[in-house]
This record gives sequence, C-alpha cells and structure tokens, in this order.
Amino acid sequence: MKPMILNFVDLSTPEGSFRSHPTDATLIRVDDLGITRGDGIFETAGVIDGVPLALEAHLARFAHSAAMLELPEPNLDLWRRVVVDTAHQMADVGVLAAVKFCMTRGIEGQVSAPSGWALGYLADDPTEVRRDGLDVVTLDRGYRHDVAETSPWLLQGAKTLSYAVNKAVLREAERRGASDVIFTSIDGYALEGPSASLIARIDGVYVTPPDSLGILKGTTQGDIFTELEARGLPTTVGNIMVSELAGAEGLWLCSSTRGAAPIRTLDGKPVALDHQATQAINDDLEKRRS
Ligand code: PLP
Repeated sequence: MKPMILNFVDLSTPEGSFRSHPTDATLIRVDDLGITRGDGIFETAGVIDGVPLALEAHLARFAHSAAMLELPEPNLDLWRRVVVDTAHQMADVGVLAAVKFCMTRGIEGQVSAPSGWALGYLADDPTEVRRDGLDVVTLDRGYRHDVAETSPWLLQGAKTLSYAVNKAVLREAERRGASDVIFTSIDGYALEGPSASLIARIDGVYVTPPDSLGILKGTTQGDIFTELEARGLPTTVGNIMVSELAGAEGLWLCSSTRGAAPIRTLDGKPVALDHQATQAINDDLEKRRS
C-alpha cells in the first residue's frame, strides 16, 4: 500500500464535514476504540481513473456493518462525497488505486462522535495473480454455517476493523505453502476468503455462497454476476459444500483491488484453470464506472 490522499472526516455534527491532510498526519488518538479494540468498520473500493467502483454497494455494506455493530447510522451522502473526493484526487495515477474508508466508535470512556477517515492509496498490481492463479488452503472458521442466525453478536458478516484473524490465516496459509485461504464452516460449507468472495463454476453455473452464511456480500462478486448474466451465462447464489470444490471447473477469489484471481491449487491439489473466463471477467470489471 502506498498512501496518497487522506481525508479526515469530522462526525461531531449530523451533517459532518471532511478535510484533506498529509497522509502522515497524526489524527487518531491512541485511546480511540478503533485502535484499542478494533471496534469500527471499513470498506475498500477500487478506483479507476479517479472513479470509485461499486460505490453504492460499498456504501450499503458500510451502513449494514454500522447497524450490526450498533454504531451511529453513517450519513451516506457525506461518505459518498468523501470517497468520491478521495478517488478523484487520484485520477492521474494511471494504475488501479483504492480508497479505504473507516469509521470507529470514537474515544474510549467518553461519549464522543465516531472517528472517520478515507485513505486513498495505490493498490498492488493484480496482473500476476490474475495470470498465474493462487495456491489456496481451506481453513476451518470454527462456526456452523448458521452462525449469523444463531449468534449475531459474533458479527459474522460485518466488515469490522478486527481483521487480525483475517491476517493470521494468511500466515497459516504460508506455513502450508499457500498464499490465500477459503474459510469453511465446521459443518462443511465453503464460505469466503479473508479478503475476498468465492465464486465457483460447477456444472457450467457460476455460484457464490449466500451472505446468510455470515459472510460479506461481495461488491466485486455482485458486479461479476451482473456482467456474466449480461453475457447470458448462468449464475446462482447458493451453498457450496467443501466436498464440491475439488470437482469445480474453476474457482476464483474476488475482491475490489484484485478483481477475479483464479485458484490454481486447493489444499495442494490442482484446480482447473480457465484463463479465458478469468480474462473475460477481469475485462468486464475494468470497464466498470459507478
Ligand atoms: N469477504 C471479505 C471477508 C472481505 O474482506 C472482502 C473484501 O475485502 C470481500 C469478501 C470481498 O468484497 P469486495 O468485493 O467488496 O471487495
């Protein structure tokens, strides 16, 4: 990540406001609950030519996460302007950029406003991973597939700032000779990656697991399905059992900054690679403008 633009958001009034700062400015207090507890939410939107991608879907998910954490309802008009402004300031960077926007519960022990900011940065170049594919391992998340229904306080399906687990699994993947992960439920359902949605092609149908399993509703996955459907290809949102993954005609981990990254091995075994499909999906994504 190469930070380029920082907008700090003042949420102390209902209408709020934002202001640009140098990216190394010291703005967050050390007793902010986002820092001390990971108690907050975030989104990362891709940016092409200064335009944030899938903006409305990101804003909707931001509001959904805020509701799950019982944070103040974000003023989406303000956040839309913050993200658009941050992205716009990166119009000339010439490569894929991204805007990460965050809102925390504010200062610990005080009745304070949430803290908010948006950081514009250059995303890692996805060319190689889209071409060569990912070595992925399945890792048990430790919950049943119905955790969101039985235990909503576990916040499965909210995009919170508590991503230490999502980072720890990457280190576990590395120990197993891989670079990414598909989380699974203890009762055998395939879920999502630590920072990506799963799409599988099974019997000619593109399928992704439903967010009712306590996973994020992927904005990239949503755009991919819209484009696949426009090309007349069958898609469905439905459960994928871990046992079905090995027989898939293709598996992809999809996210805002990487697009669709094909999986080339799963738990050390080769997975079918469809370079043409991957290229077509990523070409569709590149064409997007919100
Ligand atoms: N699932 C998780 C856990 C994520 O963190 C992300 C993105 O970071 C995604 C899925 C994919 O979401 P999007 O396509 O909106 O980037």
